[in-house]
Amino acid sequence: MEKRDLGGSPIIVGGGLAGLMTALYLAPEPVVLLSKAPLGIETSSAWAQGGIAASIGPDDDASLQIADTLKAGDGICDEASVKRIVSAAGDAIAELIRLGVPFDRNADGSLAFGLEAAHSRRRIVHAGGDGSGREIMQALIKVVQATPSITVIKGVAARRLIVEDNKITGVLGNTNCGPVLFATDRVIIATGGIGSLYLASTNPAGSFGQGLALAARAGAMMADLEFVQFHPTALNIGASPLPLVSEAVRGEGAILIDEKGERFMSGVAGAELAPRDIVARAIWHHMRAGHDVFLDARQALGRTFPQHFPGITEKCRAAGIDPVTQPIPIRPAAHYHMGGIHVDAQGKSSVEGLWACGEAASTGLHGANRLASNSLLEAVVCARFVAESVGGSRARQTNPRLEEDLPRSSDPSPVRKILSEAAGVLRDRDGLRGGISALYPMMQANGPESDAALVGLMIAVAALKRQESRGAHTRTDFPEAETASAKRSFLWLDEALETARELVPEAVG
Ligand SMILES: Cc1cc2nc3c(=O)[nH]c(=O)nc-3n(C[C@H](O)[C@H](O)[C@H](O)COP(=O)(O)OP(=O)(O)OC[C@H]3O[C@@H](n4cnc5c(N)ncnc54)[C@H](O)[C@@H]3O)c2cc1C
Repeated sequence: MEKRDLGGSPIIVGGGLAGLMTALYLAPEPVVLLSKAPLGIETSSAWAQGGIAASIGPDDDASLQIADTLKAGDGICDEASVKRIVSAAGDAIAELIRLGVPFDRNADGSLAFGLEAAHSRRRIVHAGGDGSGREIMQALIKVVQATPSITVIKGVAARRLIVEDNKITGVLGNTNCGPVLFATDRVIIATGGIGSLYLASTNPAGSFGQGLALAARAGAMMADLEFVQFHPTALNIGASPLPLVSEAVRGEGAILIDEKGERFMSGVAGAELAPRDIVARAIWHHMRAGHDVFLDARQALGRTFPQHFPGITEKCRAAGIDPVTQPIPIRPAAHYHMGGIHVDAQGKSSVEGLWACGEAASTGLHGANRLASNSLLEAVVCARFVAESVGGSRARQTNPRLEEDLPRSSDPSPVRKILSEAAGVLRDRDGLRGGISALYPMMQANGPESDAALVGLMIAVAALKRQESRGAHTRTDFPEAETASAKRSFLWLDEALETARELVPEAVG
């Protein structure tokens, strides 16, 4: 097996917004960035439509965004994290502008702010209309490519972290030319979300939580894994992944109707702009009652739709739907993971030498339900916290040893149906136990689906243990929120396996 010594450089795993910003904030300190795909490809970051939530407008204030975030998070946000991250929005936007991101502006040159669900102000900073992620990533990739301290190695999928005495000593990666073992004592996981563990998802196919599997196997503590956000309005065209119809469309006044034209959300507080979990559940219930659901922008936007949302217009038209004259068919789809690798204020995990940021990390910002457009903000802000912490640490010589067989390539597809049925929009004890029984042996078999099964299993165990409904986690057998359960959840892999064996003895056969 090829071994590479990086001369003490830290390694960033993942080339989305979190990974790129960490590398840029670390400059001029040398860093190696591993990415499965070429930069900008297969990242949620490049697919983001709405933009970045930043309470920097003349009628806005960080305290208002903090209040909105805490409300959406439904009682379990880490308040200190919320304050720290939201208050850094102004600096984050200024840094992105400095790096060349062309945010949309009004005629007078001021930043244009969009509105999204559960925000009390128009505060979504965007670029290229609904092409925010693409514009941000294009600008940053140019700067990364021109930064000599950043070495990008494409075509490497990180498959294992090597740990000795709870300290990182290396990363094992798979490439087309075989396995490579990188020696390093500092690793930053920035591998994005887990949406692709579900059948209906808005995430790139490669977003199946491999970073969580790496960290969990290395002994890191996970947090809030049961909280998976289902976006209410994915374009319902039977594709995989499903294109997203941004919340900003509802922000501009589009309404949800069924096949009879009935506006079924009108009686719900906040209606179409209620928090995502409420809207997703309302749509799910209506679909389960046999209805088709549509987003109708004809009245609110009509002929101006393509100008406001060029990317969404293109995706709709490619599927034979004209949003100017027709209601858009939609359905909920797995979209964002509030849970992930538990990190502290500096982005450090419980394993020495292991940091995480972006969607793979769980900072406590989102609680039980992410407020729209807070995630790109978190990726940029926490990349800085991580870079400051990694930059302040001293490199240690390591000599990683690999004691297990090299795992084969990863394939999440066998997990998707199981997790979708067990831990979807609505959950219950029997469904979750069934999911755990199916995922446990799959994880243990050490085949291509093993890492995805491990992450799915941990999500299902966390969901089984939370015997209440809160935010995005809805148990039909425990429909109320319990005051005593209003706290974050933490889980180690060993503990998840033990719980699975205890609660579902049939899982071990
Ligand atoms: C369609 C869509 C629209 C969205 N719109 C918004 C929005 O408007 N505003 C907002 O705030 N949020 C939005 N989100 C959420 C937001 O885009 C993500 O949370 C955020 O971009 C995550 O950034 P990241 O850098 O953590 O991960 P990503 O951008 O997903 O990048 C992950 C990177 O890790 C790499 N990777 C994964 N596993 C491995 C491995 N084993 N080895 C090597 N590399 C690996 C991937 O190839 C990729 O390069 C949206 C998400 C989607 C899917």
